Amino acid sequence: MRKYNFYPGPSTLPAEVLEAYGEELLEYQGSGASFIELSHRSDEVLGCHERIVAMVRELLGAGEDYHVLLLPGGAIGQYAAIPMNLVAEGGKASLAITGHWSAIASSEMAKFCELHTAVDTRPECRTIPDPSSWDVADGSEFVAFVDNETIHGVEFQRFPSFGGVPLVVDQSSNILSRPVDLSDVGVLFACLQKNLGPSGLAFVIVREDLCDRRGRAVPSVWDYPKQASNQSMANTPPTFQFRMAELMLHWVKDRGGVERMAAANEAKAKALYDYIDSSGYYSNKVDPKFRSRMNVPFFLPEPAQEAEFVSGAFDAGILGIKGHRAVGGMRASIYNAMPQEGVDALVSYMKDFAEKHG
Ligand code: PMP
Repeated sequence: MRKYNFYPGPSTLPAEVLEAYGEELLEYQGSGASFIELSHRSDEVLGCHERIVAMVRELLGAGEDYHVLLLPGGAIGQYAAIPMNLVAEGGKASLAITGHWSAIASSEMAKFCELHTAVDTRPECRTIPDPSSWDVADGSEFVAFVDNETIHGVEFQRFPSFGGVPLVVDQSSNILSRPVDLSDVGVLFACLQKNLGPSGLAFVIVREDLCDRRGRAVPSVWDYPKQASNQSMANTPPTFQFRMAELMLHWVKDRGGVERMAAANEAKAKALYDYIDSSGYYSNKVDPKFRSRMNVPFFLPEPAQEAEFVSGAFDAGILGIKGHRAVGGMRASIYNAMPQEGVDALVSYMKDFAEKHG
């Protein structure tokens, strides 16, 4: 039996998407083989790639001035690929540290450029200082930030702006969850395994004019212009992820696109935070202005109750609720594919548990 799955990623996928894939597992649309048995140069796979690019442009509002890429190495790979592609040897960039993932980004990017920390909210990582107070180094080729910190549950309300310096945005855990303004965006990227499908790839849009500044060697699989002119097939791509990403994008589109996702996500997050705040039992310590709509960390009064909470949750049809070891407590990841009923089921279980133990 499928439970409501709150894992942070790999994470829940819509049943419709899994069923659609299941139906074509043996034979894909008259091709005579499973999609994952077809050559990546076949019309079917090239067509899938083309439809992904078209849907991404439509859903994100990314014009022809952006390359749309699907690249190996996940989002962590991009922490290295971005400075390699955008910054010349010895060049500078700035980055905001607002949680676990931006700290990882910092150590990775610093291997490939002179990286300045514009702001650092560690160790608590519970708020986002106003961007006007950030210390962006003069001559930065980009300013990077993690739009939604998956572990700390801190999310920007909107993209900051630094007088046109290109933004590098890690939207791994909130891509397509709300409309975004691409005006200042140089690169926007995400791992696939939250809102876009199964794990293993990075989805990247990058402004074409930023890609040729580097004059330095870049591995072919992360070379943006090379991948752009090769349908992201500089090596044999994971075609299963391609097809699943296409089905996910269709699913978002069929449900009315990003605005509709945003409204549903708002409602789910509100239901959960409202209950946590009013419970007198559970707590979430993030500055309410920057609470994530995708990942909701929360604490029980006693850490000793956590094991019982997690095992009782499983029996109540709730999977993957344990928090990350870096923060502790519990965490509910409520991406696009989590239905309102899943959040309602969680709240109902939390109420029962609090009544029994409070
Ligand atoms: N950035 C963020 C915000 C993430 O949540 C994650 C994965 N949880 C990553 C980067 C890393 O993604 P991957 O492991 O696919 O490289």
